[in-house]
Amino acid sequence: VWQNCLKMIRESISEQSYKTWFEPIIPAKLEGKKLTIQVPSQFFYEWLEENYVHLLRKSLDYAIGRDGMLEYSIVVDSGNRQKNEPQIAVNMPPVHTPQYAKPDNPNADVVKNPFQMKDLDSLSLDSYLNPNYTFDNFVEGDCNRLARAAGFAVASKPGVTSFNPLMIYGGVGLGKTHLVQAIGNFMKNKAANKFVLYVSSEKFTSQFINAIKNNSLQDFMNFYMQIDILIIDDVQFLSGKEKTQETFFHIFNHLHQSGRQIVMTSDRPPRELEGVEDRLLSRFKWGLTADLQTPDFETRIAIIQKKVQAEGISIAYEVIEYLAHSIDTNVRELEGVMISLLAQASLTRREIDLELAKATLRHLVKDSEREVTVDTIIEAITEHYKVRTADLKGKSRLREIVLPRQVAMYLTKELTNLSLKSIGYHFGGRDHSTVIHAIQTVNDLMDTDKEISSAVNKLLKMFRK
Ligand code: ADP
Ligand code: MG
Repeated sequence: VWQNCLKMIRESISEQSYKTWFEPIIPAKLEGKKLTIQVPSQFFYEWLEENYVHLLRKSLDYAIGRDGMLEYSIVVDSGNRQKNEPQIAVNMPPVHTPQYAKPDNPNADVVKNPFQMKDLDSLSLDSYLNPNYTFDNFVEGDCNRLARAAGFAVASKPGVTSFNPLMIYGGVGLGKTHLVQAIGNFMKNKAANKFVLYVSSEKFTSQFINAIKNNSLQDFMNFYMQIDILIIDDVQFLSGKEKTQETFFHIFNHLHQSGRQIVMTSDRPPRELEGVEDRLLSRFKWGLTADLQTPDFETRIAIIQKKVQAEGISIAYEVIEYLAHSIDTNVRELEGVMISLLAQASLTRREIDLELAKATLRHLVKDSEREVTVDTIIEAITEHYKVRTADLKGKSRLREIVLPRQVAMYLTKELTNLSLKSIGYHFGGRDHSTVIHAIQTVNDLMDTDKEISSAVNKLLKMFRK
């Protein structure tokens, strides 16, 4: 009977709608003239009722007769992770016309061609993956080991591991987009028939808004419900967007329940996502949450080496070390400096040496006026205290040298993001306990020595201006 229904339904609507909304239906039983069909979620049921009630009625007329009845059984939509959990059959009243049906346009689909979803950019079912982001060129370190391993597991067995959804979070420029794109690329190469989609949350939101504006919510839903692996970047942008969240919630449930893989990123852990509905947040926690941290020194070295290698050039280790010690905020910044350095080198036809690296860094910082570097601090200290750079980095224990050196380290700690280890490196390779001691000494002197405190404050003010 259901096959007969399907035959007629298939002729009446687009292939896309058919696939999305009718293929997942399982005929459960037929008792007399009552057909029970099993649908994947409450939302799915509501969507059928809202959009296809007339078509279903017609197909029943055709397959059973005017007195044919339809009942839905909904696969339970709870927090259970496994598919095929115990199902409670929900008995729905026989087909009726719900008040929200659109009697004036029962077969809206017939006239619409889903492959004209301009707003969805889906003409070619493009995955929006950048092939340059791969696991191969994602450098592994302590800062990203768990996230990378989880990503790799998911990429190898999408929808199968318990890492569904996989949520990757971390600050800006730490590699979230790179990692999730690597997952997407890996999956696509492995299973070309799977539909992988990468979308930013902003784009998802604007597609949704356009779908409402253009009355094409149907196409929007069809499009998203057929995705095998959905990668959605920067979900923090969904915060405060209630309608978009609600729709995402339904898509999420549908995909999750049908064993499709969902991968998300966020700039903060789920519990800190304000303005995101609790029911959505609780979904995010079903799978695995893994964070990306600021890369440690060794990872920064490895990342620089990888980029250098990719460019097919060679740079002295001391330069790489200098860069790794000078930029320890995030990978994007590190890459930015590398790019300018390479550009500088090729423009001026110079070797990339320490001098050029320092000059480039100074230049960049001046350009953005955003941060103070060790070199600018050293410059100011040598001027103020009339000492030489070599003294600050040297071994002298003379008080006239030790004090300026300690003040310089203190200022570096105050004014830059550098770690104690990196500060020690810039001051003659001292270890981090020496740096701590210097900072403490200056702190104490600022409380007890008027002259020193006013000098230090003057310098601080000058840099902060
Ligand atoms: P996010 O999305 O977290 O803001 P991105 O993924 O855009 O960060 O990363 C910024 C840049 O740093 C990208 O060019 C990316 O390739 C690079 N990057 C980040 N982490 C790594 C890593 N572990 N290995 C190699 N490159 C990385
Ligand atoms: Mg990103």
